[in-house]
Parts: sequence; structure tokens; C-alpha cells
Amino acid sequence: MTKVIDVELRGIMKKFQNNVVVQDFNLQVEQGEFISFLGPSGCGKTTTLNMIAGFLDPDGGDLLIKGQRMNGVPPYKRELGMVFQTYSLFPHMTVAENIAYGLKLRKVSKSEMQERVKRVLELVKLPNVADRYPKQLSGGQRQRIAIARALVIEPSLLLLDEPLSNLDAKLREELRDELKRLHQEIGVTTIFVTHDQEEALSLSDRIVVLNHGFVEQIGTPLEIYNQPASEFVHTFIGKTNRMEGEVVSVEGDRLIVRTKEGMTIHAGKQQVGFAPKQKVIVFVRPEKITLTDTAGAGINQVEGHLQLASFLGSYTECEVRAGGHTLSVKVQMSDKSAERELGTKVFCQWNAEDVLVMPAERG
Ligand code: ATP
Repeated sequence: MTKVIDVELRGIMKKFQNNVVVQDFNLQVEQGEFISFLGPSGCGKTTTLNMIAGFLDPDGGDLLIKGQRMNGVPPYKRELGMVFQTYSLFPHMTVAENIAYGLKLRKVSKSEMQERVKRVLELVKLPNVADRYPKQLSGGQRQRIAIARALVIEPSLLLLDEPLSNLDAKLREELRDELKRLHQEIGVTTIFVTHDQEEALSLSDRIVVLNHGFVEQIGTPLEIYNQPASEFVHTFIGKTNRMEGEVVSVEGDRLIVRTKEGMTIHAGKQQVGFAPKQKVIVFVRPEKITLTDTAGAGINQVEGHLQLASFLGSYTECEVRAGGHTLSVKVQMSDKSAERELGTKVFCQWNAEDVLVMPAERG
């Protein structure tokens, strides 16, 4: 089956005065895909979304929607649904009037309007609030209505700019699941801006990781997590232990590295090749390290002392001083390490397959 491309960015560039804030952005979004733009504050996520929406015009490159070049085409000619971080409902209109607004502009008949408003309210699981005013709704409900308003016009593309970031943690998670369900149900091509890696990982078909206006990597959540293209991607996506060192030997797929602090680390197959004496950076995720009270057999085992333990509900985050390093270790509640006293002797162990090695110059 041939792929249908809904949105295409070809070498998009944007500058404000002389400051280039988006550079050489290339992306093809397939029909029905859920794509996230992920990156720290100021990396160019919103600027790029605003160019796709038509609020800003690119200073270089081509933007295509459904195969048509869109540079210079105003937003109202793009048939897009948009939801912003702050609630953008009209306060003097009821929920039903807010949702119907876009339909009115499109001169949809009254009976069809009523039917479509009813349908989207059911879709966002708020069938009984049609006559309320926005101030009579909770923050989470308002964002659901904003989503309903964006969807009612049956847009060819849904653009979401941090729609969950003004909500508290529990609501955020609830609405995140709701967005996932909605996307599965209606399958509208969606571009979602966020600085929250969990949101991006849990919702997206693919993630675009941005840094200082550059695309660092485009990939599925698993690729981004397990095969990061750069140190930036690896460290932005989750907590990690970072150690600098040098390659001691290369045996087939296996590498042995000695850290500056003198710890020997065995690493499994990597995405790139390495040579002895090469300067490298070694990463091990906290959840890949296990703690035991006694030494076992095997590689990547180091004796240490428990320095800190922070109870975080379903898991405990520990700090262990071992082999000249302070290692962060994530311990599940079922593990008795969560109850160990500070200062206790422990052994840290991890598999060679869970070690990521990058050339130091790339860092
Ligand atoms: P945040 O998560 O904080 O919204 P972002 O990744 O969406 O960040 P953008 O809002 O796209 O970042 O901004 C990218 C860069 O462009 C920033 O350095 C910002 O200061 C700058 N910028 C954005 N809008 C303008 C503007 N209208 N005039 C000048 N500079 C701007």
C-alpha cells in the first residue's frame, strides 16, 4: 500500500531578526500518524507548529499539506483543528456555542450543527455540559471542550500545543489516556508539541526530538529510547548514569571500557564501531541496575554503599557510591533494597546489553 503523506516539511528554516530558531527541518507525516515534537523550552517546537498552522511563514524551505505547497496560505484556508496550552474558549458563550463556532463560520445547517456538537461531546465523554459556561467547568473539562471544538470541524490535521501542561499530575495522565483513545478512535493525523518525555513516549507513533532549532532524531518511541542518535537525546528522554572513559579492548561485538575513575565496564553490541584507546562516554539507565546484598558471578558487578534512598511510590530511587562513581539506581518496591539502611554494603550489577557507548567527541 502506498503511504499517504499529510504534511511535509522540506528544509524549513525560520528566523526572528537575525536569530535562526528553526533550521533545516525535514519531516514527512503520514496520514493517521501521531507525531510529537519534543524538546526543551526554546528549541523551536511552537514556532514549527505555528508555521504548519499558518500563523508564521517559513523564511526558507517548503511546507506541504496534502501535497499542496502552503507557504503564505492563511490559517483559515488550511482546515486545521488546534488546541493550545491555555484554554482558548470564549467565556461568554456556552459549551455548545463554543463548539459550534467553527461550524457556524462554515455555514453548516442548524440541525447538522446540533448533531455534530452532540457527537463530539460524547466523544470527549462530556455529554451533559452543553449549556454550561466555561467558568462552570474544571480545567480538565475545559481542555476536553477545546479538543471537541477542534475536532467538530473534522479537520484534516489536528495540532496540539502542550494541551496538558496546565493541568495537575493526575488530570494530565487522565487526559493523556483520553487523547490516546480519541486518536485510536478517529485516527486524525496529529502533531503534538510537548517538553514532557513521558507524554511523547506514551502517545506517539514517532517522535521528533529538537534541540536549539535542530532536529536531533526522528524515530519511534522505542528507537528514541533504546537507540538514541546523540547524548542529548539519551539524556533528555530519561535519567541515566554517565561515565567518561576509554576503550580497553574490542572483541567481536563486545567492548571493554575503563572509566576515568578506574571501573571496568563490559558493553554489548553498539550502533557504531569502536577502536582500542578511543575516548568514549558510557551510559547505563538507573532501571537497568540491580542491587544485591552479596556478590554474585558475572560481569559488570561493583561493590558499593547505599548513600541515599528516595521513596517515590511505585519505586525507590537510590544513590550508590561504587567504583569511584555515584550511581543512580531505580529499585522496584518488590525489591527489599527499598528498605535497606543508608551506609549498607550493596552490589550493583547490570547486563552488557544495557550499556550504551558513544564516542566522546559526539557528546
Ligand atoms: P516553549 O516550550 O518554551 O514554548 P518552544 O520549543 O516552543 O519553547 P519556541 O516558542 O518555538 O520554542 O521559540 C524558539 C525560539 O524562538 C526561542 O528562542 C524564542 O525566544 C524565539 N522566539 C519565538 N517567538 C519569537 C518572536 N515572535 N520574536 C522573536 N523571537 C521569538
